[in-house]
Amino acid sequence: LSFTPAMMALHYGQAIFEGMKAYRGASGDVLTFRPLDNWKRINTSAERLCMPTLPQEVFMGGLTELLRLDSGWVPDRPGYSLYIRPVMYATDEYIGVSPSNTYQFVIFTCPVGVYYAKPLKVWVETHYSRAAEGGVGFSKNAGNYAGSLYPTKLAHQKGYDQLIWTDAKEHQYVEEAGTMNFMFLIDNVLVTPSTVDDTILKGITRDSVLQLARDWGMPTEERKVSVREVLDGIQKGTLQEAFGAGTAATIAPISLIHHAGTDYVLPNVETRAFSNRVLQALNDIKHGRSEDPHGWVYKAE
Ligand SMILES: *Cc1c(COP(=O)(O)O)cnc(C)c1O
Repeated sequence: LSFTPAMMALHYGQAIFEGMKAYRGASGDVLTFRPLDNWKRINTSAERLCMPTLPQEVFMGGLTELLRLDSGWVPDRPGYSLYIRPVMYATDEYIGVSPSNTYQFVIFTCPVGVYYAKPLKVWVETHYSRAAEGGVGFSKNAGNYAGSLYPTKLAHQKGYDQLIWTDAKEHQYVEEAGTMNFMFLIDNVLVTPSTVDDTILKGITRDSVLQLARDWGMPTEERKVSVREVLDGIQKGTLQEAFGAGTAATIAPISLIHHAGTDYVLPNVETRAFSNRVLQALNDIKHGRSEDPHGWVYKAE
């Protein structure tokens, strides 16, 4: 790929992407997880950024053909997979803020190892914002990540791994855990912030975790969650587990939450029955080792 310095994506940020993985199934097949949801989501992102939507046959056809070509790169070692990155960006050579007339859509892959899911120490961010109501937080667009780098760097300098983003208006409600969705277990109820305010990216992992919990008869709640509720839950001992959910780590346990000068320590990661069970269940489904009652697994021919 070569490009002109006037390529519009570089200046005005019309750039969106997806993130998914291919797994080696038990019988050697190449399996992907809920790719149609990635297709739908890239089109949601595209509409918000005035970019063209992708026909299903372009996204799925391109993905299937690429996986056929790259199938030898899908690792069969436990925990390893082939990361898949679809990306679309504006390619007009033009100075001036307006939607581009031309775009490029690319999918590339790279093998990835075991995601080191060391329990995370997170900093509740009460100054910087990731997304505001009416903004673009629900879309997977490049600018969201650029804006998150500096606040995340400050948290690193203070000794924390990631941020818990809060609402941009009051900084009182939790939204996401870094680039993952934030989920926790309180009084045996699985709770996660609702996605109605268009500030939260609707993760496919988040949705799958909620579905499995419901399958197992566990109550779930998607609603506004205040920082106070989380911290009180830790102090009272009613908050049993907290984790980030996303394709990279699947489940990233949170071991400590910092808020306004205080570190709140969560229960031991080893004792977290739900996190460990849901991680195992998702891994088994993704690798074709267990039943797939929701039709999540897509076999690339
Ligand atoms: C990609 C992403 C997620 C997780 O989505 P998955 O579909 O589960 O991988 C959550 N939050 C943000 C901000 C993201 O970019």
